[in-house]
Amino acid sequence: MALRRIKADLHVHTCLSPCSSLDMSPREVVSAALRKGLDLIGVCDHNSAENVLAVKKAGRRNGLMVLGGMEVSSSEEAHILTFFDDDDDLLDFQDFIYRHLAGSNDEHSFGLQVIADDEDGVTGFCDRLLIGATSLPAEAIAARARQAKGESLVIAAHVDRESFSIIGQLGFIPPTLVLDAVEVSAHMSAAGLKERFPDCRKYPIITGSDAHGPEDIGKRFTWFTSEDGSIAEIKKALSNSNNRKAEC
Ligand SMILES: [Zn+2]
Ligand SMILES: [Zn+2]
Repeated sequence: MALRRIKADLHVHTCLSPCSSLDMSPREVVSAALRKGLDLIGVCDHNSAENVLAVKKAGRRNGLMVLGGMEVSSSEEAHILTFFDDDDDLLDFQDFIYRHLAGSNDEHSFGLQVIADDEDGVTGFCDRLLIGATSLPAEAIAARARQAKGESLVIAAHVDRESFSIIGQLGFIPPTLVLDAVEVSAHMSAAGLKERFPDCRKYPIITGSDAHGPEDIGKRFTWFTSEDGSIAEIKKALSNSNNRKAEC
């Protein structure tokens, strides 16, 4: 297969995230991504993957590649992006996260957590406290994601942010936390990140929108030069192997 350039936003929420716009239905997420010229999105709601399969299905119907994952909140209150090629791996990982996530959602304080199908029909509401933090240290989240049978990808989210990032919470990236990349938020460039946080020079850098509303999807993106949007190819792009590359 030939190499191609893939425009990717790997940090997109849906209406399942309590802090997201209710407009972030599976179909609208896919349409907005296509309107922005994206080839690939990563779906990562807070501590849950209940809308991933619907977005994947809507994506397949419309020619958009979709990586399924979750943005997990660690016990240090750092956000870690995890992605899986295989849906069973993702659902196993979700079970694991649910076992370490206490509390139930208060819709009036935090918002609705809508579960939808690929045609935007509402199929239920998640009653777990998705906005909460798990009892798992970042290291344990990354280690469990790596136990998947298929390929998995672990990225420290918005590391330049003061809140909910591993550097913001700890002041550094623990060497025992095994990452495939770090993500820089929309507030900083990759060059700025390396200058401000020299620790990050050791890692491949991506950026994503962290979109919670349709208008934000694709505001920030990463170009992958690879054969396709599979995790194996993205990992090669992140490590610049076999002429693959990642640019942001
Ligand atoms: Zn986050
Ligand atoms: Zn996010």
